[in-house]
Amino acid sequence: MKKLAKIAAFLLAAVMTVSAAGCSSTKTLADIQKSGKLMMSTNAEFEPFEYKDGGEVVGIDIEISQKIAEALGVELEVTDIAFDSLIPALQSGKADLVAAGMTADEERRKSVDFSDPYFNASQAIIVTSDSEIAGPEDLADKTVGVQLGTTGDQYCTNEKGENEYTVAEVRRYNKGMEAVSDLMAGRIDAVVIDNFPAQKFVENNPDAIKVLDTALTEEEYAIAVPKGNTELLDKVNEVLASLEESGELDEIVGKYIAAE
Ligand code: GLN
Repeated sequence: MKKLAKIAAFLLAAVMTVSAAGCSSTKTLADIQKSGKLMMSTNAEFEPFEYKDGGEVVGIDIEISQKIAEALGVELEVTDIAFDSLIPALQSGKADLVAAGMTADEERRKSVDFSDPYFNASQAIIVTSDSEIAGPEDLADKTVGVQLGTTGDQYCTNEKGENEYTVAEVRRYNKGMEAVSDLMAGRIDAVVIDNFPAQKFVENNPDAIKVLDTALTEEEYAIAVPKGNTELLDKVNEVLASLEESGELDEIVGKYIAAE
């Protein structure tokens, strides 16, 4: 009997653990509204999508998230954490959503759900202004800096060995800016990073570095939510669609990226 009671207690504990874990991923819109805040996590090292201006985190993703918070009638709370901690933050319920210039890729789709895409991007190559590197084919014997855990890291690491272009050595940094600093100091030969941040780095250091023409990948940015939270996902998609339709999305983007 005693043994049975123990088993029953164990089973009950197991059920409670499972439902508690389930809670974080199935937070309802009503739960968010009741808490009065939408918890958005990002990595504010990615101008023009998210970066620090003075003490404040600003950028395209912040403004989009602000619109989502407004649609829910709650305050937006932005947390700035390392890029490779963003998906774990969603999984543990520390974040309701992630807007971080994050590429919707198949690997990440195993852990989170992505909204409809809101931006097209690619991986770009930054080199010093006087570099002899003219294209990706010149990287084969070079050391390339990337931001840890990003699609640029994935491309250069080339784990499956299926890329057209390869690099000799990959150096991983927590921040894109640290990679660019090492490039300017001559410690690495190139940086592979998303095209819009790449342009911003060059705008900020126009004499020292340049972006090459080649786009190494084709990617789409999307907002990530905890896996299975379709209620929140539908709401995010609804807001994105209305921002697109009303022209507000273009307006937001236009504030940060000059039209070509
Ligand atoms: N788009 C890239 C990725 O998703 C980089 C994003 C970032 O550094 N914020 O991996």
